[in-house]
Order: sequence, then structure tokens, then C-alpha cells
Amino acid sequence: MSVTQQQVLDSLARIKSPRGVALANANVLSAISASDGKVFFSINVDAAEARAWESVRAEAEAAVRAIPGVTTVMVALTAERKPGSAPPPPPTPSRGTPGVQPVHAHKPPQGGQSPMARQSEIPGVAAVIAVASGKGGVGKSTTALNLALGLRDLGLKVGLLDADIYGPSVPRLTGLHDKPELNAERKMIPLRRFGLAIMSIGFLVEEETAMIWRGPMVMSAVTQMLRDVAWGELDVLVVDMPPGTGDAQLTLAQNVPLKGAVIVSTPQDLSLIDARRGLAMFRKVNVPVLGIVENMSYFQCPHCGTKSDIFGHGGARHEAEKLGVPFLGEIPLHMAIRATSDAGNPVVDSEPDGPHAAIYRAIAGQVRDQLKGVIAAA
Ligand code: ADP
Repeated sequence: MSVTQQQVLDSLARIKSPRGVALANANVLSAISASDGKVFFSINVDAAEARAWESVRAEAEAAVRAIPGVTTVMVALTAERKPGSAPPPPPTPSRGTPGVQPVHAHKPPQGGQSPMARQSEIPGVAAVIAVASGKGGVGKSTTALNLALGLRDLGLKVGLLDADIYGPSVPRLTGLHDKPELNAERKMIPLRRFGLAIMSIGFLVEEETAMIWRGPMVMSAVTQMLRDVAWGELDVLVVDMPPGTGDAQLTLAQNVPLKGAVIVSTPQDLSLIDARRGLAMFRKVNVPVLGIVENMSYFQCPHCGTKSDIFGHGGARHEAEKLGVPFLGEIPLHMAIRATSDAGNPVVDSEPDGPHAAIYRAIAGQVRDQLKGVIAAA
């Protein structure tokens, strides 16, 4: 049974804003996405009033969930600070996106002055790490998934969160297209494949919907995917970040309790400039950069195995040395990586004894070593 936007609106009829105005008339609702029983919309409010709106958000989510045929619902609270108005109270870090503030729909984190200290940990998850790139198309998602699998092969319990809200590719890379179910506590149960706990915005909304999200909605949705998902006990949760170093990425880097970041770059100059921006972004918010991976580092002929440095291989290694961050490894541009990724059978899983799996595992080993203290402590 498909759920219509009108049914969603009807379900909200009795819900009122903190000032007593009917929610549907309060001029705060985004467009409603309703397809296949999956419903998503946001409530966009003034940041100064955000706290008061959280119960309205929860009420709206519960009302939509009660509609027969609704399988998944996500109502995100987003906030834009009006020009000239006072900044919202913590937990939002003070160095947020100019003029735009994301809203935490959850318990405020405790803490002191640094952005890291303000982020509450995710219960059961020892280390959250980001895989980021300065621009799209450099193989960030492919690297994130194969890195997660490499960590799995080292005996760790691993999750993957596809936070690339502008173009979620984890459904394609894993072949997963099911909708997550809810557990008794109404948390989404991550899908499982390859021994990983996996969550993607692509499981919840259509790709076209994901493409049009504005900055503050990104943070709200990612926060919900981090905290409203029953991740269980994990050693490492790998977050596939949206590409780029704009406001949305900065806000994410600031608000997700990251223990470190891996930056993926191709050897071309342009991409390296972008990678440098990524590095600067994480340093600005005190997230340790675990290292740089050079993807599509050299071309390896699938027939004869000959290597050709079509992009001037080695740039990322030099850059890493210059910037004083670890260089984690070189991944060749190879048909097998592309074909397995795009068929939903990532190379570390489908060709575990091959040379590419070995490269990803070696990268995973270095990441694990850097996180050892955190994982052991948990
Ligand atoms: P991003 O997340 O940076 O946008 P993707 O991981 O989606 O990039 O990769 C973009 C395309 O490049 C995909 O078709 C993927 O299969 C391919 N790709 C990624 N890394 C490699 C590689 N090392 N060799 C060959 N193809 C690759």
C-alpha cells in the first residue's frame, strides 16, 4: 500500500507548534517525500526556538509512523538562524556554518570548549572515523567500503554509514536496497552484508530526493542516522562523508564524534589541492587525520598487469610527507575494482586473496594501529 503526501499531512492535523499554531499552517514544513512506505520531511525553524520544537518533531514522527503502510519515517529538525538573531544555545558548536545552524535532536553532549568535547559518543561504538575527499568521483565510497571490509578482515566489528547525502552510493556498492526495520525501541536496524552493519540515506529516500537537500538538513539527517540506528557493539564505524569541504562537510566534521579521518585523493594536482582543503578542514575542528590514500594511483592493465602512471603517480605520498600526515597506501586504477564495486561485490570480499584486497587490508592495518588505544579502551 503506498502512502500519499495527503495522508502524511492529515496525520499531522492535530499537532501544534510550540506557539499553538497547527503544524501544517506554521510555514515550517519542507516538501514531503513519500514513496514505497518511506516518508521523509523536515521542519525548518528559527534556531533560537529549536529546543522547543524537538517534542513537535517527535510527535510528528510518531503520527506518521502510525499511518498504515508506513515502514520508515524520518522527520528532521533543521534550523536557519535569522540575520541578526542571537546564536542558539549549545550543543551546537560556536564555529558552525555561517548563518545556518544544525540542530541536535538529541540529548545535548556534555563538555568543555573544544568541538570534540561537545560531541556525545555513540553508545557501543568505540571509534567513528570519516572517509572524506575534497571532490566527488575520486573513489571515496569505494575506498570507504573496502576499508571497512579490510578492518573486518582484521577481526574487528565494523559498521558503515553512508553519509554522502547528495549521492548515496552504498546501496549500489553493496547491492542492498531493503528498507531498514525498526526494533522495539523504535531504532532503525542497520542492514547486514559482508559481516558489516550498514546504513545509508539511500535506503530511506529516493536518490533524487537526496540530491536536493540543503546544508542544515544534511546534518540533521546524518545525526539521526548516527544516533537513531541500533548499531550494536562496534569497534569501528566508518562514515562515508559527502565529498567536498563546504559548509555541510565542515558542520558534519564538527558534529560527528570522529576519532579520525582518512582522506582519499587521486594523484592529479587538482584533486590534491582539494585533499589539502580536506586536511585543513579536519585540523580546524581538531579531528586527527589518520592519513591520505592515493586512489587510481597508477593504471594496471587487467590483461598483462603492466603499470602505467597515467596521472603522474606519487603526488599524494609527497603531499602527505610535506604536510606531516601518514601516507596510507596506493590503490591502482583497475577494472576489477570498478567492476566488483559497481556489481555490489566489493573486491576485498569477492577477491579476498587478490592483490587489491591485500592493499586495502594493509591500509586498514595502519588505520587499526592508529585507533588501537581507542578500541582497546572500549
Ligand atoms: P566517490 O565516492 O568519490 O564519488 P566512487 O567510490 O563512487 O567515488 O567511485 C567512482 C567510480 O570510480 C565508480 O564507478 C568506482 O567503481 C570507480 N572506482 C573507484 N576506485 C577505483 C579504482 N581504484 N579502480 C577503478 N575504478 C575505481
